Amino acid sequence: MAVAAASATVGPFSPSRSPRGMPRPRMAVRSTTLSVVPILTNLQKNCATPLPVLHHVADAMAADMRAGLAVDGGSNLKMILSFVNSLPTGNEKGLFYALDLGGTNFRVLRVQLGGKDKRVIDTEFEQVSIPPELMFGTSDELFDFIASGLARFVQKESGKFCLPPGMKREVGFTFSFPVKQTSIDSGILIKWTKGFAVSGTAGKNVVACLNEAMGRQGLDMRVSALVNDTVGTLAGARYWDDDAMVAVILGTGTNACYVEQMDAIPKLRGENSASRRMIINTEWGAFSNGLPLTEFDKDMDAASINPGEQIFEKTISGMYLGEIVRRVLLKMAEAGALFGESVPEKLSAPFVLRTPDLCAMQQDTSDNLEAVGSILCDVVGVNSNLTARKVVLQVCDTIVKRGGRLAGAGIVGILQKMEQESKGLIFGRRTVVAMDGGLYEHYPQYRRYLQDAVTELLGFEISKNVIIEHSKDGSGIGAALLAAANSKYAHEF
Ligand code: ADP
Ligand code: MG
Repeated sequence: MAVAAASATVGPFSPSRSPRGMPRPRMAVRSTTLSVVPILTNLQKNCATPLPVLHHVADAMAADMRAGLAVDGGSNLKMILSFVNSLPTGNEKGLFYALDLGGTNFRVLRVQLGGKDKRVIDTEFEQVSIPPELMFGTSDELFDFIASGLARFVQKESGKFCLPPGMKREVGFTFSFPVKQTSIDSGILIKWTKGFAVSGTAGKNVVACLNEAMGRQGLDMRVSALVNDTVGTLAGARYWDDDAMVAVILGTGTNACYVEQMDAIPKLRGENSASRRMIINTEWGAFSNGLPLTEFDKDMDAASINPGEQIFEKTISGMYLGEIVRRVLLKMAEAGALFGESVPEKLSAPFVLRTPDLCAMQQDTSDNLEAVGSILCDVVGVNSNLTARKVVLQVCDTIVKRGGRLAGAGIVGILQKMEQESKGLIFGRRTVVAMDGGLYEHYPQYRRYLQDAVTELLGFEISKNVIIEHSKDGSGIGAALLAAANSKYAHEF
């Protein structure tokens, strides 16, 4: 939808503009369009992601990855070693558990694996919300709560699930907070994020914390793998598809991991040289090189709890897209009475407009944009005419298009880096990028823009080999699979 289409419905622009605060009932629609158009045009110009910009972002992503692998602190990208060097093959057998702590909920899951032919024989999971006071309590209180939830879940294990005599139950622990991993089954918490402020955990091995709490519950289980959620997603995808090489999460935040050649990781200094490859957790949300940013992005960043950090995440992930659009609409309302004479009060409240609202508005295909109107009314408390609704949709599209295309360029950056290490192993054959997260799952326009950017960057022939797909099982089962892949009983299968 072009600006011209919106203005055509109201005729030619009036050259004069009423001063602010003056009544302008007759010309309201014309002057709205007139004062809003330059803001929209500027936004579209500053958010543009033509092919050269995408190429620059992909190249910079690959270069930053290389720098982060050279030495710790060598780049914005932490390039965290996962110590995961055996991915599921499909041959895993037995009963495994997973525990996923990553936000306001924690999930427990068990799965009975039947090997290559039977695969997942049975699986069950439960989700428990974490009482808010525990997010501000002590480490012991939080881990006791988690361990007791796990203990109750284990007690409900029925005859469908079967642990061979003499074996301990093993669990994969997905922990989506920044961790300095020290081995496949240990890692030190760097800091709590996402609103958690638990005392006494920073600097500690979170697996030891969980083990101690399980001990206090009388629960005799072994943590076989500590994994980031992206790593869990890649494991889950690899179980079904041997060509899965990269996993990307696009939800509230964003992150990506991929399979790297051991000899392309200088900072390992020969440790773990027994295996050929290791999954690297890029923490790509911290990327920032060459992104097309606007005054709205800069203001949002300055007002955030982590100014100057996570710039890629703030440009492409679900937590922020709605907020960027809100800031643009606020400026339009202030400049040109987009929604009438006064600036709607609700529009000034940070984060009132959420990414799912943008998504719902963009699905409206009716002539008079009824759904856009009612969402604007419900969420921002405004009455809008058709011209204003069209402008709002164009703002949404501009921000979502930039986000999707930049995410696509980031993926191509990872693929380029992998191809540089092993010529022909990525672009010369089928490669699967496993995607997960609410933004990717629910936003069709975002998904399309992401795919378009990948196709433009790689060209039609190569991009036919790159399969970007929603990962069926997500990180939960992935953690259980990694517990299986790293089981101490693995050789007894
Ligand atoms: P998290 O990232 O918190 O682990 P999810 O992967 O479920 O959780 O992602 C949730 C995020 O996905 C929300 O914060 C929101 O930004 C985005 N999201 C959820 N539903 C939709 C939707 N219908 N349209 C667009 N984005 C959505
Ligand atoms: Mg998640």
